[in-house]
Order: sequence, then C-alpha cells, then structure tokens
Amino acid sequence: MSMRYISTRGAAPALDFEGAMLAGLARDGGLYVPETWPRLSEDDLIAFAGLSYAELAARVMAPFLAGSRVDSAVLANLAREAYAGFGHRAVVPLKQLDRNFWLLELFHGPTLAFKDVALQLLGRLFDRVLTRRGERVTIVGATSGDTGSAAIEACRDRDAVDIFILYPHERVSEVQRRQMTTVEASNVHTIAIEGSFDDCQDLVKAMFNDMAFRDRHNLSAVNSINWARIMAQIVYYVAAAVALGAPRREIAFAVPTGNFGNIYSAYAARAMGLPIGQLVVGTNRNDILARFFDSAEMKISAVEPSLSPSMDIQVSSNFERLMFDLYDRDGAAVAAALGEFRKSGKLKMPDERWQRARAIFDGYRLDDEGTKTQIRETYEATGELLDPHSAVGVAAALRCWRDPAMPMVALAAAHPAKFPDAVEAATGIRPALPQRLANLLRRPELVNVTPNDLGQVQNFVARHARRKETT
Ligand SMILES: *Cc1c(COP(=O)(O)O)cnc(C)c1O
Repeated sequence: MSMRYISTRGAAPALDFEGAMLAGLARDGGLYVPETWPRLSEDDLIAFAGLSYAELAARVMAPFLAGSRVDSAVLANLAREAYAGFGHRAVVPLKQLDRNFWLLELFHGPTLAFKDVALQLLGRLFDRVLTRRGERVTIVGATSGDTGSAAIEACRDRDAVDIFILYPHERVSEVQRRQMTTVEASNVHTIAIEGSFDDCQDLVKAMFNDMAFRDRHNLSAVNSINWARIMAQIVYYVAAAVALGAPRREIAFAVPTGNFGNIYSAYAARAMGLPIGQLVVGTNRNDILARFFDSAEMKISAVEPSLSPSMDIQVSSNFERLMFDLYDRDGAAVAAALGEFRKSGKLKMPDERWQRARAIFDGYRLDDEGTKTQIRETYEATGELLDPHSAVGVAAALRCWRDPAMPMVALAAAHPAKFPDAVEAATGIRPALPQRLANLLRRPELVNVTPNDLGQVQNFVARHARRKETT
C-alpha cells in the first residue's frame, strides 16, 4: 500500500511521497498531509526501546515513504549518514533538569539548531530521489538566520542540487552569517541583500512567480512547510517518549514555536498513537498562537523583534495542518476560513473545534525580560545554559504543566552559543562554540552583496546555477 498526500485546501491532486516532497506547497496553496496516519502500536513502541536514533528514524518514517522508490534499506542508510555528523552519540540527548522534568537537546547538528535534525535527512532524500529521476533542482530561500545555514549544510556537495540563500546584509548575527558564508562548496551560494528579511522573502517569491525563470532553473524550496521536514521531526518525540516510559505512560512536551512546524510534528506523533498527554506552545512577544489558545481567536498584529528571532512570526504556516483536522479534514472549509483571515486579519474558530484543540494544547507567552529571567533561573538551579528560544519553552512548560505526575519534556531548539549576547546578558557567562565550530570566526568568508533588485538577483542565480538550461 502506498502512502498518498492530500492538500489541506482540498483542491490539488493527491501526490505520492516523492511528489509531495518535491512540490513543497500544493498547487491550491495548501500544505500536504498524509491521507491516513500510520499507526504506532504498543508493540511497536516496546520494540523501539534501545534502537539507535538512526534505526528508530528509519522505522518511524518508513510508512510515510510506502510506495516510493526509497525502500527501507535505502532509508536506513540515509538516516545513518544524516545523523552520523551530529556532535552527540545519542543525536538528541535527554537531560534531566528536575524531578519529572527534562530537556530534549536538539542542537547537536552542524548548525546548532533543531532544524538540522530534519534538514540533514531532507537534503539526502532530495538528492537520492532527484538522482534516480535524472533531475536537478535549484533551491532558493530567504533566511533571517537559522534556516539558511541549516539548509546550506543539508545541501552542500549534493550533486542534484544548487542552493541560493538570500539574507539581509548586516542584519544577521556574525555566527549566523559565518555559518553561511564560510561554506566551501561549489553548489552553495549566499546573497547578502541590501534590504530587510521581508525584502529577501519578496525576492524569493518573485523568483517563484516568474514562471519562465522558475521552469528554466527548476526552482524548489526546503522551507518549513515541506512535509518531509515534519515527518523527520516526529522521530525525536517518539525517541523521547519511549525513553521516558511510553507506551506505559503519557508524556507532555513544551515547544518554543514560530511557524508551528516543530510542535505540529508532536501532534502528528500523537495522531499516530504516541501517548502524548499535553502539548504546550511557547511564544515570545509575537504571541498570536498563545492568544488563540486563550480565546479561540487569531488576530494578526505587526511582527516585533525579540531575543528569540526565529520565533518572530505572526502567521504560522503549519497551523493550517492542525486546522485541517479541527475542521474534520474539510479542505474547502479550511480554505474559506483562511481566506477570511487574510482579508480581515481575524479568525474566530467555532467553539467545538477550538475545544478539541484545547483538550491537548496550552499556549504561553514570555517577553524578553521573562526570557532573561528564565535563562538565569535555570542556570542557577541546574547549571544549564539555555538559548533564548529554549528558555521560552522551559518557562512555558513550568507554567502550564497540568499533571506533575506526567513527565514534561521541554525542547532545546538551539545551542546557547548561537545567541551568546542574550545568554551573557542573563548570566554573565558567554557560552563557547563547540570544538568542531571553534574556528568559525577565523574561516575565510565569501560575501556577495547585491542590491534589492530582482533582475540582479536572477542574474546571479543564472550565472551560478549548474543546471543545464532547457529550451
Ligand atoms: C525555527 C526555530 C524555532 C521555531 O520553530 P517552528 O517549527 O517554526 O515553530 C524556534 N527556535 C529556534 C532556535 C529555531 O531555529
């Protein structure tokens, strides 16, 4: 039986795994979700205990790839390669902070943020599938920091892929910039745009909307709406829950949230049968999700900068995937609600649907002062340094924990050395980069500064992409 993927807006054709991964966004503007959830039985969970992370990943993901040309042996190999490069033998270690309270460290990948866990696998899956098809793609993306470097590390030296990442010139941190500009790989290109992150995003959208350009270079994206990223993130929820006693008992998770991708993977794991008893959404001052879980209403306001920049988001694209289930998988109803939201900036969810979400989700907002306080308190109590994003998750966990008898796992989304200024402001300690990145600040950089001009950016891409032009 092969797995099929359907759009959350109900008006695009169903695709197989490869199609959904290569397409990213569905043609009706929706996001792909599996037509049915594969089941994790109690016996499966019991059998998972003691597997290596790569073995577990292959077992959990296999049903999602059913029917694709990536068979389970190939998948196991790709997972082994993807996670061999992590800086911790356990890949995603659990660290105990208190009785029944745990930190799941997701930052041991090459760029020190949780996005590596999915992207290290996704880059290899893309390469494998494209090579088999005799195709190549040009990946273009915009980044305000973390995503760009994680995508670059995932795609470097992969034959079937060229990658171009746009970032706002002089508006990302030095560590973030250097993680992109010091990569020596002939298929990796970074473009420093003289403009803001929004300008970068607009340029990327404009390239996708230029159909001739899009087809000529076979443009593609690996952004957080890609189903394969959600799929790969399900694995660490299973790993943590099994380590803490699933299927015998339920586990709670608290997740620092921006685009709702990470926490949606937890929801997906639960839909597959993982015993998750509570999910806590942590937000910074950009708290549209926390307000939604308080009031059933989503209301847009302007994005404000915070100490946790990867969560400075108002419209969380992956929330649409949760809505699809809350609206009983009625794509037309989702499309109508979102159309209204885009027009009015407001979405009021019918009470019965909202209650279904509230049965499992809580939301919590933490401002910058609270973030620094949490970093300091955790350091004083446990000796652990949290990055500002992880601190939001920890605070949300402690404030919203419903049942102290249920183990609570807060997700550590980035290494503290990725945000050294905030950590130092809170604790007086400047976290050091891990040994394998220690020379980052001395490596030679290649910075391509380009005006905020579509024509010049397209010229840059056309000059550097290796894909043969098809006429
Ligand atoms: C991307 C990111 C987030 C937000 O994750 P979502 O999946 O978008 O909710 C939080 N923290 C860090 C460090 C990130 O890089």
